[in-house]
Amino acid sequence: MEIDNQEQFNLVKSAGCDLITSARFSEASQTVYQIQTCKNIPCGINCENVEVEIEDDSQTMDTETEPEDIPSQSFVAEEQQPLSIKPLLPMKTRRTHRQTLVLDLDETLVHSEIKPFSTANLIVNIFYQDRPCSIYVSFRPGLFRFLEAVSQRFEVVLFTASHKCYAEQVLKFIDPDMKLMKYRLYRENCAESNGVFLKDLRMLGRDLREVIIVDNSVQAFSLQPDNGIPISSWYNDMMDRELYRTVEILDELQRVGDVREVLHQKFNISNNLIN
Ligand SMILES: [Mg+2]
Repeated sequence: MEIDNQEQFNLVKSAGCDLITSARFSEASQTVYQIQTCKNIPCGINCENVEVEIEDDSQTMDTETEPEDIPSQSFVAEEQQPLSIKPLLPMKTRRTHRQTLVLDLDETLVHSEIKPFSTANLIVNIFYQDRPCSIYVSFRPGLFRFLEAVSQRFEVVLFTASHKCYAEQVLKFIDPDMKLMKYRLYRENCAESNGVFLKDLRMLGRDLREVIIVDNSVQAFSLQPDNGIPISSWYNDMMDRELYRTVEILDELQRVGDVREVLHQKFNISNNLIN
């Protein structure tokens, strides 16, 4: 498949249907950063020879930093039964934060298109099936402040249903030293059900009483709906304040033993999915 239009690109990056409608926008774009990158294969996901051009030296990028190697898992999840396969995350240490925060990428933290748009902050050039392809990426308002805040209080895991070849390049800019998001999981780490990529939180190897996921797709965390904070899909609304609102909810969750009890009361997503 070659990326010739947005619909095809959505197949590369999307998790499935967005069940929550979007917010809206307005704020001038800042400097556009260009990342010249790598040769990628759609499903094989091999990135190599990354070169980076940055047009603003207030940001730094470490192209040597590679995400932690997380094993690929392929399976079909069955609701809440315990899993016997190897967890995606390493064991906690004494320094690991008590609660784990799982963050989605597209339309939760950033928005990407294959055509230029005025509010794009970043251009990622990838090779997709041996063809160069430019991807224009904008950052949700408050993104860096949000990540700085949550990284101080949670074990943060970026979990996207997008292909690694695209997502990895965006993350190399947002968090080059992996200080904000310690672990990264991609499409290959999702469970697939009828063409929809699901994020099965049991796979993390963490106590689900202490796991929170923030995702614009309720479907993506439908296996553990009471662990989720739904967030509106973000495209270009520069007045959007959803990340700030999310920090307030996270503050509240830090004080509880089982996040599911609070999130169930607050959002009742499990019942909404049934009805
Ligand atoms: Mg998303």
